[in-house]
Amino acid sequence: MFEDTRVTGTEVNYYFVCTKKLWFFAHGIQMEQTSDRVYMGKLMHEDSFSREDKEILIDGTIKLDFIKKSLEIHESKLSNSMQEATLYQILYYLYYLKGKGVKDVKGYVHFPKSKRKEEVQLTEEYEQQLQEVIQRILEIKNSSKPPVVEEKKICKKCSYYNLCFC
Ligand code: SF4
Repeated sequence: MFEDTRVTGTEVNYYFVCTKKLWFFAHGIQMEQTSDRVYMGKLMHEDSFSREDKEILIDGTIKLDFIKKSLEIHESKLSNSMQEATLYQILYYLYYLKGKGVKDVKGYVHFPKSKRKEEVQLTEEYEQQLQEVIQRILEIKNSSKPPVVEEKKICKKCSYYNLCFC
């Protein structure tokens, strides 16, 4: 049986986009185009930190910039449909790093169109939500079948569309 107890930031993102997409991704069925992949990143080994110059990299993908004595996480919100997914992806990084004992990390969502950014705060409420989300993600990942979901607006733009509906 497929067993994976790790949860990556990409998986948290996909959970909010589509649980079926999450299942495909977690099972190694990846049909994303290169540009999408660059945005989503590959976070398969988030527990491996490495230092390069003044940055900390998680799996060589998520860049945490040192700003004086603090760290910052930056993610871009590419569309309205990704708003929640991006928010929780950043929250997950903050939660993950807190669990690693990394303190004073700041998270920001960037809005490229309006050239602004918003800070994301990890509250206790978000932490509780994330614990439930992580549990649900593990259940989905370790299920032998993908969840049944109905076709939605974003499906036509999804690289798994043919797999799901054709
Ligand atoms: S096509 Fe729709 S249902 Fe299928 S994985 Fe993509 S978003 Fe999910």
